[in-house]
Amino acid sequence: MKTEWLRREVRQFAPYVVAPIRESRVINANENYANVFAIPSIREEVMAALSSYQPQIYPKPLADGLREALSDYTGSAPEELLAGNGGDEMISYTLHTFLNEGDTVLLHAPTFDMYEVGAGLLGAKVEKVRDLPGYRRDRKGLLDAIRRLQPKMTFLCNPNNPTGELLSASFIEECLAAAEGLVFVDEAYMEFAQEESVLPLIRKYPNLIVLRTLSKAFGLAGLRCGYIAADRAIIDEVAKVKNPYNLNSLTQALAAAVLRRREEIFPIRDGIVAERERLCEAIQHVRGVTVYPSRTNFLLIQVEEDRADELFEAWRQADILVKRYKDNPLLPGAFRITVTTRDVDDAVLSVLKEVMRRA
Ligand SMILES: *Cc1c(COP(=O)(O)O)cnc(C)c1O
Repeated sequence: MKTEWLRREVRQFAPYVVAPIRESRVINANENYANVFAIPSIREEVMAALSSYQPQIYPKPLADGLREALSDYTGSAPEELLAGNGGDEMISYTLHTFLNEGDTVLLHAPTFDMYEVGAGLLGAKVEKVRDLPGYRRDRKGLLDAIRRLQPKMTFLCNPNNPTGELLSASFIEECLAAAEGLVFVDEAYMEFAQEESVLPLIRKYPNLIVLRTLSKAFGLAGLRCGYIAADRAIIDEVAKVKNPYNLNSLTQALAAAVLRRREEIFPIRDGIVAERERLCEAIQHVRGVTVYPSRTNFLLIQVEEDRADELFEAWRQADILVKRYKDNPLLPGAFRITVTTRDVDDAVLSVLKEVMRRA
């Protein structure tokens, strides 16, 4: 293949690497440990959806039934919601709707990779405001940057992946008021925080876009379903850009079925939150390890950089795969650990204690 065939932005593009998995305890991608289809009432609902399923018919372009179910869950009108193949697809569609080459996109750093990847592919200019020590967002720095740069889009990940930190809704309102451009608030983990969501503010701020996903708290990462909520004028424009049949009808039907039975899933979420607090507290007592407070289903921890290889390998030997940030200068010696069940967390902890004792 001739490199000249490629778009300029693609030529210098590194592929998103999904690590090969050999371990049986995989806690590197913030997946839910629970199979929600195994819950009897959800299984029943899913089976009923399957028995009337018609694979020969094209899916509803705007996922009408799913939109109704999401509307019932979020309190937004169906016309204020748009669903797709995971939050990732909705990030991509939103960028494609609004960004011209050379536009400025503002991020805090470190954060989720997809904003920079997507914006970079479109030739946008990415500006970053680094977190303060302790991975607290630089709130003043972000507001100053919004006022100074007036970016076309500002991304706020709340709570943030990978640091777990939560911004208050009132701070986000300050950003919304200061920004002439769009503010995209990624609430992929908001079900674990259960407060400070700005989703109800889409009627007050026409420049607000909120992202949610069923991949994390709802345990449907493989089914692929994410959605944005925004002023209907924004939804109408993003709907023009998306592929007409982006979201397959099986996902539309099954995601709606799960949402109708969401009360059955919240206890699993509550258990993960309690387990997160237990693990966080236990890690605080391990000398040489810093653990950051988290409002999500994961914990960011940090050790001296020269201990990181040994620790990562020790976990692998113990059949545990965690997320490591090896070549990220903003996250030296850092690991992200998905919180799952007590037995897995105890295994994580025992390896951590053992390695740190050797220090
Ligand atoms: C997981 C995640 C998403 C979306 O994931 P999908 O599986 O594509 O829905 C979006 N933002 C953040 C910060 C995430 O961690």
